[in-house]
Amino acid sequence: MNWLTNFVRPKLRALVARKETPETLWLKCPKCEQMLFMRDWEANQEVCTHCGHHMRIRPLKRLPYLFDEGKYELHPLPRVPADPLKFRDTERYDARLKKAQAKAEGATDALTVASGLMGNRMTVLAALDFGFMGGSMGTAVGEGLVMAADLAVARKAPLIVFSASGGARMQEGILALMQVPKTVAAVEDLHDSRTPFISVLAHPTTGGLLASFASLGDVLLAEPGALMSFAGPRVVQQTTREKLPDDFGLAESNYRFGHLDAVVPRPELKPTIAKLLRLFAHAG
Ligand SMILES: [Zn+2]
Repeated sequence: MNWLTNFVRPKLRALVARKETPETLWLKCPKCEQMLFMRDWEANQEVCTHCGHHMRIRPLKRLPYLFDEGKYELHPLPRVPADPLKFRDTERYDARLKKAQAKAEGATDALTVASGLMGNRMTVLAALDFGFMGGSMGTAVGEGLVMAADLAVARKAPLIVFSASGGARMQEGILALMQVPKTVAAVEDLHDSRTPFISVLAHPTTGGLLASFASLGDVLLAEPGALMSFAGPRVVQQTTREKLPDDFGLAESNYRFGHLDAVVPRPELKPTIAKLLRLFAHAG
């Protein structure tokens, strides 16, 4: 143990962090460009208090808002081969992975699985992390979702999945695409065991995730303004050579077309999910 790095440096960092600088007190909403008092913004679950813009939120920030008294148990993802194809583009995949892990506060990949009480009912929750390589689904995420579904079935607890992803992890090629049928099979297991599955789509949910488990919830919810489209609007516009409506692919237009059950602002997600869990429990 190195006393200098383990004790002195954290203490120094705590001293520096305690200093209230304008950057730590205020932030600017990227949509309406109004200044937000950080404490109000956090109390509003990282939603702009002026215009309602939902900023991206990482799983470890989201979980305390959802579980009763902010208490939950984390379940580590199953271990998988880190770089099965030895993939390299401008950088080696295993190096990219390590960098993403270093910024992920202990998470090993783009999925966090947790369990705990929600509205006084045991619930299993899995949340994709867009901040981890664009929330892309490779083997670790696929195996993690299967683990979460198995856990839900074993504990007779509803499964709630929060999606935010750019799609399949290209660095894992065909192995990433194989996660699509694998996660669909896991949802089939949920259906067969009559385990409720609520899918919540956050910005953005695209590609292989939208084409697999994210669209297969018994109830499909989305956060306001979330893009949910297999391909992004720019790609669709270039392919079809047609001018798309401004709200193309957004949660609100998908709701109008009947693809979603509800668009729910983040601060209302917990009471909404708790109400749904009560209804599922009454339905047996
Ligand atoms: Zn705003």
